[in-house]
Amino acid sequence: MKRIVVFTGAGISAESGIKTFRDSDGLWENYAVEDVATPQAWYKNPEMVLEFYNQRRKQIIQATPNAAHKALVELEKEFDVTIITQNIDDLHERAGSSHIVHLHGEIMKSRSTINASLIYALQSDCILIGDKCEKGSQLRPHIVWFGEAVPMMEEAISITQGADIFIIIGTSLAVYPAASLIQFTKANATTILVDPNADAQQLPDYFTVVAQNATEGVPLIVNKILKAYV
Ligand code: NAD
Repeated sequence: MKRIVVFTGAGISAESGIKTFRDSDGLWENYAVEDVATPQAWYKNPEMVLEFYNQRRKQIIQATPNAAHKALVELEKEFDVTIITQNIDDLHERAGSSHIVHLHGEIMKSRSTINASLIYALQSDCILIGDKCEKGSQLRPHIVWFGEAVPMMEEAISITQGADIFIIIGTSLAVYPAASLIQFTKANATTILVDPNADAQQLPDYFTVVAQNATEGVPLIVNKILKAYV
């Protein structure tokens, strides 16, 4: 069975109503990244950081998977598919994809500030000051902040190395080390990018570029792949 690896970013969830990261002059939903998505922000103002992610979580719960998330599920009928996502939302899960690696964490989970292996599925839409892990330490969002290590990176590299078809959707490829994944594809892998601003990506020539929104471009390429390989 051929292996397909799909590498997604904020752009795949844009048409579900979740803003991408670089929509508004480098601000994320009107916040400077360093104020809400860094370890320094957490030490300085944990209330603000929790509130930022509580708001994002509420938006994500209201959102629904779009045609792009759903089209990727179709590929599973014929291929061994893994999705490596930079997104913290759970729209791939809710669309029905089976194998998902979250490089930058998951907003629907919390984790201990004293032991990073203590990770919990959230039972409500908020994490508050005073919410504690089983060891008695404050809980934080299960998110990889800027400046933190990306624990899933090695696994993501190894999955990418096994891809016969590698599809990138809706990422500016500006956030490292995640963006470096594209260097790990096999020489003979079929490589495809779906992004309306594909020109800005400066990808190697061997990528097939589909310069469309995800909800148009992804169903299109999924159909093409199913026709070509099945
Ligand atoms: P980015 O904001 O840097 O880039 C978004 C990319 O999506 C751009 O290349 C843009 O052209 C493209 N895009 C915009 N609308 C699109 C559409 N309708 N269809 C397809 N593509 C579209 O996002 P990034 O590269 O993923 O990096 C942002 C970081 O911020 C991520 O690592 C992520 O953790 C975090 N983030 C996550 C979410 C989420 O979970 N949905 C949302 C915002 C930010």
